[in-house]
Amino acid sequence: MGTKDDEYDYLFKVVLIGDSGVGKSNLLSRFTRNEFNLESKSTIGVEFATRSIQVDGKTIKAQIWDTAGQERYRAITSAYYRGAVGALLVYDIAKHLTYENVERWLKELRDHADNNIVIMLVGNKSDLRHLRAVPTDEAKAFAEKNNLSFIETSALDSTNVETAFQNILTEIYKIVSQKQIRDSPDDENSPSNNVQTITVAPTDNSADKKQKCC
Ligand code: GDP
Ligand code: MG
Repeated sequence: MGTKDDEYDYLFKVVLIGDSGVGKSNLLSRFTRNEFNLESKSTIGVEFATRSIQVDGKTIKAQIWDTAGQERYRAITSAYYRGAVGALLVYDIAKHLTYENVERWLKELRDHADNNIVIMLVGNKSDLRHLRAVPTDEAKAFAEKNNLSFIETSALDSTNVETAFQNILTEIYKIVSQKQIRDSPDDENSPSNNVQTITVAPTDNSADKKQKCC
């Protein structure tokens, strides 16, 4: 039975990646629940959280996945990336090493994610001005060179958090809706046929098995 919450035109899976401690879980809680935690609770992680936004008169339901601390052990499974159409690659503007490791995360995406995944480089903790270790211009140039969009955010004071998610979801929407127009035959081009769901495969093995057997 559908509730209003289940009514959407598009469902996009977006993954959060980046070193431990850069603020991924807090970006997620800020965007989906408007909450922030000073303490890092890396072991108590949700698998994903959702929030719907409007883009171009369409309801986009974002299903945003959090690593739940797996990145500490470099143990992110390929299931995490499966079906993802977007990635927020987060570093901490006050910790240079987390920026240096962006290259590694890009490689991880190349190895595990869809080739067409939309990637946004996110310099989080922009409130820590006095501790800045990564110049904005340098990160911006790196992003341009690697074809990524770029933004600086603060999950603590909320700066640019909405904008970051809004921008990546809009970017994905533009690509998906363009592709739909190209792919659909003329007679199927009416607005009523304009609904497309990006499906997300189950992550755990038991669910995988269930799906295969039934
Ligand atoms: P994760 O390991 O990437 O999920 O990072 P967390 O979201 O758990 O955050 C790690 C630590 O950084 C926590 O102590 C947070 O309170 C803090 N933190 C997260 N985002 C921000 C931010 O935008 N500004 C500041 N100053 N601290 C933040
Ligand atoms: Mg976390």
